[in-house]
Amino acid sequence: MARVNNWQLGREMSYWYPEARPQKQFAAVFDTNKCIACQTCTLACKTTWTSGKGQEYMLWNNVETKPYGFYPLAWDLNLLDMLGGQNWDESGELPVYTGSTIFESAPAGERVLGWRPAEEDYAYANVGEDDCAGQVDGGTSLENSHDMAWFYYMARICNHCTYPACLASCPRGSIYKRPEDGIVLVDQGRCRGYQECVRGCPYKKVFYNAMTGTSEKCIACFPKMELGIQPQCFVNCIGKIRMAGYLNTPENAREDNPLDYLIHIKKVALPLFPQFGLEPNVYYIPPVHVPTSFTGQMFGPGVAKAIETYRSAATDADLAGLLGLFGSSERVMTRWRRIGETITGLDDDGNVLVSVPLREPVHIRPAFDPVQQVTRMNCT
Ligand code: SF4
Ligand code: SF4
Repeated sequence: MARVNNWQLGREMSYWYPEARPQKQFAAVFDTNKCIACQTCTLACKTTWTSGKGQEYMLWNNVETKPYGFYPLAWDLNLLDMLGGQNWDESGELPVYTGSTIFESAPAGERVLGWRPAEEDYAYANVGEDDCAGQVDGGTSLENSHDMAWFYYMARICNHCTYPACLASCPRGSIYKRPEDGIVLVDQGRCRGYQECVRGCPYKKVFYNAMTGTSEKCIACFPKMELGIQPQCFVNCIGKIRMAGYLNTPENAREDNPLDYLIHIKKVALPLFPQFGLEPNVYYIPPVHVPTSFTGQMFGPGVAKAIETYRSAATDADLAGLLGLFGSSERVMTRWRRIGETITGLDDDGNVLVSVPLREPVHIRPAFDPVQQVTRMNCT
């Protein structure tokens, strides 16, 4: 085991291989507050990459309703149960994880603490959909006080982790992390279908194909990313909740990099289960209406502050403007800027890819249209 730095934990940790960060790291931000669970992303991926034989059950992208949705069944609860309660030390400037990661908790002779789902665990992709925590008492559904009743939608893809457990688990060395962009791939020629990666990935984002006898996973649409175009599940997102790009480490964060700004500078987007220790690279803006006692165990100790910052977007033109760039272009925006009321997304060479207004113009039509001789309703 090597000692590596995991900035999400605020400390070093043990990992199977030495630290080898890519030249740049593929990363993304998902705004959970905007997802409507339309599953367009799921189908965009399905029809692009997993419509073949043996891939029927695979959802490289899935959207589940929390707290009762899972794909596969109880993927997170099982591991949280195995890992046990863990703590963060929040006495310093930055929180430090004092618990144990899945690498540090690995049983003797194993590389990670893991488990392999049974076949039936993949049988209910939309289990728990729209089920809420708490309850709405009969006759009160129109009242405005449902504080205890909540759910939210969580879209999930492979996190292209900095310290992938799938890669560490593979006894064949068939999984690799591309040095040029940090995308994690399975070498189909080397894989012998031992499924140790399926067992090791805590997010359950590697899938075994019984027809080919190999494991398969999300490839971050690398043929598109190489052309500067965001992946299928991003460009097809109806809710415009997603932004793909490249993330620097905190000490190299740039204000003009959209992901650095949201993750490192504003700290409004947080990793999924950072305590597992993989330094996952998909970041979530937490749902504002959900008790932090729930979201805190999912996104780490920065949740309350992230929600406060997100709410402040109403008076923060930079944050509001950058959030307005989500879903505005299929191109990968590696730079951004705001000048007055205009927010612009650019590429590394400074070429303008898209510009959006800070405030969408609103047109209120006259109630009576004399040309068509009709009366119209205006909806807000
Ligand atoms: S999410 Fe899972 S499959 Fe993806 S890189 Fe991390 S460990 Fe590997
Ligand atoms: S397409 Fe976007 S809004 Fe629709 S379910 Fe997927 S992430 Fe959510």
